[in-house]
Amino acid sequence: VSIPLDDRLRALALAAPTAGIFSDFDGCLAPIVPDPEAAMPLPGAAELLARLARSFAVVAVVSGRPVSFLAGHLDAAGVRLVGLYGLEEQIGGAPRIAPAAEEARAAIRRAHDRLVEAVAVHPGVYVEDKALSVAVHFRRAPDPDEAMRWGDELVTGVAEAEGLTVQRGRLVCEVRPPGGGDKGHAVARLMLEAGITHGLVAGDDAGDIAAFDAVAGLDCLRVAVTSSESPRELLDRADLTVAGPEGYLALLSGLADATDP
Ligand SMILES: [Mg+2]
Repeated sequence: VSIPLDDRLRALALAAPTAGIFSDFDGCLAPIVPDPEAAMPLPGAAELLARLARSFAVVAVVSGRPVSFLAGHLDAAGVRLVGLYGLEEQIGGAPRIAPAAEEARAAIRRAHDRLVEAVAVHPGVYVEDKALSVAVHFRRAPDPDEAMRWGDELVTGVAEAEGLTVQRGRLVCEVRPPGGGDKGHAVARLMLEAGITHGLVAGDDAGDIAAFDAVAGLDCLRVAVTSSESPRELLDRADLTVAGPEGYLALLSGLADATDP
């Protein structure tokens, strides 16, 4: 299913050779599911991104997931995979790891061990080891919002003790290296490397606000992929909204139809 393009999307399609498409993964390409490990992109998402990569200067997936997870779920030729909010990127076969992430490896290990021990008392809360960062998930707790309030304090304390930073998302808190950047830095770097100043940035979550802000002064469309959990701050910054991953894929499909060589 493709959506009809409005003027802004038609202009983007015309500018494809000098424009980028930057998509978040969870909530944009893949529906949110209770078990994050079970998340899968919608059927056809990888093929669609690969089609767009033949026309656009840059097509990238910028996610909080490890690059290895993205690579295992999106076999899309020509699409750049940026993981852990920019801490790692798949270049050819091997991941490129940011210096800030290498320097913080030992502190991340210690934070991981402390968090695993601390969350044991709270049912349904679990720790995801992302190697270069640590995520604490609250979605499977009996009362996820209560668990997140409880866990936020815990995670913040551990991060401060280890000189690390905290990134919050949908029922998840993540401990990250200081100076490791965010999705905004990642998108800005990709655009700078490609020498482009316009494109489309799509996100659904608090972690995507930085990416929206990074392109605020540029000729970029900010697409909020909405759900019942959409943060107000994201919606306020959006140039257009689409309903869920299905809506976003329909938008991408319209763009691909308009740009296919
Ligand atoms: Mg997301």
